[in-house]
Amino acid sequence: MKTKILWLSGISCYGNVHSFLTYSHIDIFLNDFEFIYHPVLDSTYTLSEIVQSTKECDILLLDGAVADDFQRADKNIKSIIHNYSKTVKKIITVGTCATFGGIFQYSSYKNPTGLHFLGENLQDEFLHLRAKTISISGCPIQPEILVNTLYSLKQHFDIPLDSYLRPKEYFAYTVHNGCVRNEYFEYKVDNHRFGELEGCLYYDHGCQAPYTNGSCNKILWNEVNSKTRSGSPCFGCTESTFPKTNLFETKKNMGVPQYLPIGVPKRAYLSIAGVTKAFKIDRLNKKLM
Ligand code: SF4
Repeated sequence: MKTKILWLSGISCYGNVHSFLTYSHIDIFLNDFEFIYHPVLDSTYTLSEIVQSTKECDILLLDGAVADDFQRADKNIKSIIHNYSKTVKKIITVGTCATFGGIFQYSSYKNPTGLHFLGENLQDEFLHLRAKTISISGCPIQPEILVNTLYSLKQHFDIPLDSYLRPKEYFAYTVHNGCVRNEYFEYKVDNHRFGELEGCLYYDHGCQAPYTNGSCNKILWNEVNSKTRSGSPCFGCTESTFPKTNLFETKKNMGVPQYLPIGVPKRAYLSIAGVTKAFKIDRLNKKLM
């Protein structure tokens, strides 16, 4: 039997909707899941029908931030969530805006927020739904993480979550994990130009991967690539602190990056950096091709 899903968009740029459409095996997915409503794909009902009366549904996907004065089909988004939350088994916040407020926490709507968090701060209004919520942050989401999570729910697998309700299987890693530039990071060899194959983007170009939880270098985008592999810094889009400013530069104090890899004390960083910088490894300072 197909699992019934409602894709409900709050205040959103639809980036998550489009990212989901890039999932490589969407035809197989649609054999196992039915969208009772999706903003783009064929759906069982129209948006008006969805909000007029609560339809049978297993999982609510919320994409985008929520606000007191934001409506879908003339109905307040929060009241739609309240109605469906009574019957669905699970709620997934899809993307960083639905999870943390993201970019839209700075919009002109009234008190825009994620479903459970505003930045890193817990919000009370939907506290009673916490036990049935899973967060999949990302701007946009990595579609495979959403699909894999939906299949895990369908199979009734246990899904361990972190403190932001994100599946540990995907968010216990840092984005730094699996980057092909790790050797350059270890020996402090900088990248000199965006897009080039050599060098690490942490020291000068603002790469936030060492302190960003996510699987971008474990599950590749379109099964092909990631930002850091292609020569662009990680912007930390899965975190409660997103968005930050000056994304292409590394903020430093006395030459030391302001934000260090998760769990690494400044003293340990300075000791290791001092040792590794002393080695000049010719191979790492040459062009790869
Ligand atoms: S570019 Fe970013 S992800 Fe890659 S090794 Fe450097 S810090 Fe890590």
